[in-house]
Amino acid sequence: MAAELIVYGTSWCSDCKRAKRFLGEQQVKYRFVDVEADTAGRALVESHNDGKTIIPTIVFADGSVLVEPSNADLARKLGLPTEAKHRFYDVVVIGGGPAGLTAAFYAAREGLSVLVLERSSLGGQAALTERLDNYPGFPDGLSGSDFGKRLTEQSRRFGVEMVSAAEVSTIVAEEQGHLDHLVRTTDGSEYRAHAVLAAPGTTYRRLGAKGEADLIGAGIHYCATCDGPFYKGKELVVIGGGNSAAEEGQFLTQFASKVTLLVRGDRLSASKIYHDKVMNHPKMAVRFNTGVKEFIGTSRLEGLVIESGGREETLRPAAVFVFIGLRPNTKFLDGVVDLTSEGFIDAPDLRTSVKGVFAAGDARAGSTKQVASAVGEGAAAALQIRRYLEEIGEVRHIQTELMEAS
Ligand SMILES: Cc1cc2nc3c(=O)[nH]c(=O)nc-3n(C[C@H](O)[C@H](O)[C@H](O)COP(=O)(O)OP(=O)(O)OC[C@H]3O[C@@H](n4cnc5c(N)ncnc54)[C@H](O)[C@@H]3O)c2cc1C
Repeated sequence: MAAELIVYGTSWCSDCKRAKRFLGEQQVKYRFVDVEADTAGRALVESHNDGKTIIPTIVFADGSVLVEPSNADLARKLGLPTEAKHRFYDVVVIGGGPAGLTAAFYAAREGLSVLVLERSSLGGQAALTERLDNYPGFPDGLSGSDFGKRLTEQSRRFGVEMVSAAEVSTIVAEEQGHLDHLVRTTDGSEYRAHAVLAAPGTTYRRLGAKGEADLIGAGIHYCATCDGPFYKGKELVVIGGGNSAAEEGQFLTQFASKVTLLVRGDRLSASKIYHDKVMNHPKMAVRFNTGVKEFIGTSRLEGLVIESGGREETLRPAAVFVFIGLRPNTKFLDGVVDLTSEGFIDAPDLRTSVKGVFAAGDARAGSTKQVASAVGEGAAAALQIRRYLEEIGEVRHIQTELMEAS
């Protein structure tokens, strides 16, 4: 279905890119309004969001509005297909990030039928990253969206079927002569497969302080690339003392006049290279032994109450960026496979505690949270799955290129 609609956003907002990419993939016509250049556009966005600049804000031909919609929200609104062509596949892959897509095309290239279910946008977190500078083979780096597109095209070329607005809600092992797996999505669709690969990645962790949930997007943010440029020449606070806080804090100095890191402990846990850069940066300051008690503000962040050395103080930065770690997207696996106490999938050799269910990428306990390693785990998982299908007699042993290489 083609629809005329307007996407209000900015050129650098990753969620806007994701929504535009999804609409483009589905061949839905849209007009893009850059709210940094178009004051009327910005005013319209604010009028729909109680005075907040929340993007993307998408206005449909019938006048209805979606704010920061997921791809599934968009698909539902547009009446787009959110189901796969078949009900049974050799392999169902959950998550269309670097790990999932690499595993998918490796397996499809071996002649297996493969379905990828992705709740958001193909390419995963990597595709939302402004620039990948450390991916081997690209000496000048490449944009995350380019990387995501290339992975998706490669998967399509090998015949992988991909549904990009389908969130998996559970997996059930079914004994019917042999063990198969039922994969169910939140909209009730059901698929069966001999093997399942869980590659659902991670999401940023929230602080959980009073007032935080109400002010997300209105002065409290979790993505420097996405929201940093809103704060040119302003003072910012970054919460966290690890590598991502140090790295993202430095990134924010290209926009902000000053960035203050609030660290709960008495030192940075960031690696030495980041530590030294932060401590010597002319625009950065660090306050140790400092916790956040509360965020203040009704429709927009007005301040935050911190506690340091037994004393409370109120800070008034333009915005706060929270970088306190990652949460694995594994809720749908709770009670299905063994998870660590932090919710990561326990699969040291890529095999989970359930026969036929494999894991790869950032959501796997002990993974290195890098694109190159996610891709490597995806390839290795495809190999393991191929072996498993041979073990259970679902695939004839063929001396393939892949197997010979192992
Ligand atoms: C801002 C930022 C910058 C980064 N920069 C770099 C960098 O420069 N270099 C580098 O090497 N790495 C970088 N990374 C890390 C890199 O993006 C990840 O290591 C990599 O994307 C992990 O791949 P993955 O496939 O395991 O997970 P992801 O890329 O997270 O993909 C997982 C996918 O699974 C989907 N999913 C989750 N749950 C479900 C479900 N229930 N049903 C269906 N789908 C689901 C998600 O929507 C997601 O698309 C960066 C990450 C971020 C956030």
